[in-house]
Amino acid sequence: MANVTIKDIAKSYGAVEVIHGLNIDIADGEFVALVGPSGCGKSTLLRMIAGLEPINGGTIAIGDRVVNNLPPAERDIAMVFQTYALYPHKSVAENMGFALKVAKVPKAEIDRRVRQAAEILSLTDYLDRKPRHLSGGQRQRVAMGRAIVRDPQVFLFDEPLSNLDAKLRIQMRTEIKELHQRLKTTTVFVTHDQIEAMTLADRVVVMQSGRIEQIGTPLELYDHPRNEFVATFIGAPSMNLLAAELAGGEVRLGAHRFPGPAGAGGVKLGIRPEHLLLSEDGLPMEVKVVEPTGSETMVFLRYEGQDVTAVFRDRHAFRSGETIRLSPAPAHMHLFDGQTGQRVV
Ligand code: ADP
Ligand code: MG
Repeated sequence: MANVTIKDIAKSYGAVEVIHGLNIDIADGEFVALVGPSGCGKSTLLRMIAGLEPINGGTIAIGDRVVNNLPPAERDIAMVFQTYALYPHKSVAENMGFALKVAKVPKAEIDRRVRQAAEILSLTDYLDRKPRHLSGGQRQRVAMGRAIVRDPQVFLFDEPLSNLDAKLRIQMRTEIKELHQRLKTTTVFVTHDQIEAMTLADRVVVMQSGRIEQIGTPLELYDHPRNEFVATFIGAPSMNLLAAELAGGEVRLGAHRFPGPAGAGGVKLGIRPEHLLLSEDGLPMEVKVVEPTGSETMVFLRYEGQDVTAVFRDRHAFRSGETIRLSPAPAHMHLFDGQTGQRVV
C-alpha cells in the first residue's frame, strides 16, 4: 500500500488545458472518490495516475516515488474500467491470472493468488466457467479479481459500476466497500454519481471543468459545501437555493428574518429538502406534485416563481394546487453570495 500525492497536476490536449493544476493528498489505505459532471476531467486525472496519459505539469508520487515518467507496468497500480473486456475464450481463473502469467509469475503462485481472490469475491465455484456463462455482477467481480491478484499499491476504478442495472449497482457498491475494508488498499474511484461517491469514499473530491471545487469527507461536503456548485451537486434531491436579501445584520426571506452576517445585497439561502419544516407562520408555497414513496413524502412546490423541493420523513396527504407553509430549520441554513456563489456562512 502507499499514499498518492498529486501536486500541481496539469493536462492539455493540444492547446486546450483540461486539468488546471490540481492538488490532492491521498493517505495510505484511503478510499478517495473523484466525482463531477461528465467531461470535468475525472478519467483524465485517473489515467495520469495510471500512466496512460502523459502529464504536462506537476508531479504524481506513489509512495516515495515520483512516477511521472514511469510506464504503467512499473507503477504498481491496478485499474478497473467501466468496460471490463474479459477474454471470452478464457475461463474465469485464466482471466484473473492472465496479467501474472504475462509477468512470468510461477504457475503455483498464480493459482494461489487466483484462488485467494476468488474466495474474497465469492467466485470459487465459477473458476472454470467462461465469461458468457456469468451474470453481469459476476463478470464485474472477475474484472476486480484481475486487479486483486496483482496485489497492487493502488486500485484505480473508472466508473466500474456504470454498466450494471440499478439494483446490482447498489449491491456491487457494498461489495467494493467491504473489499476495501478487508484489503485496505489505497483506492481512487471515479464516478459521476454523487451517491456512489458519498457511500463509498472516506473522502470525496468534487471536480468541475478541470478544477477541484472541494475535498472533504462525505458529511463535510453535505454539511458545509464551500459554494453553490458543491451545495447543489451533493445530495439528492438537490439543495434549494432561494433568493434572499442581506441587510442590517439580517437575512430577509419573504416575511422571515434570520440573524445574518454583516454586509448587504442579494444572497441565496440554501436549504436542503429535509430541512424545510411545516409551520403556521412559514412561507406560503404552492404544491405542484406529491410523490409518496412509503418511507417518505417528496413534494415539489413553487414559491415566488422559484422551484422548491421538500422531503418529509412521514406521510402527508397534500394535494396539487394547495398552499402549505414551510420554514427553513434555522440550524441548517446555508448562505451563498448572490454574485460569486461562494459560501458566506
Ligand atoms: P470525465 O471522465 O470527467 O467525463 P474526461 O477526463 O474524459 O472527463 O475529459 C475531460 C476533458 O478532456 C473533456 O473536455 C474531454 O472532451 C477532453 N478530452 C478527453 N480525452 C481527450 C483526448 N484524447 N483529446 C482531446 N480532448 C480530450
Ligand atoms: Mg470518464
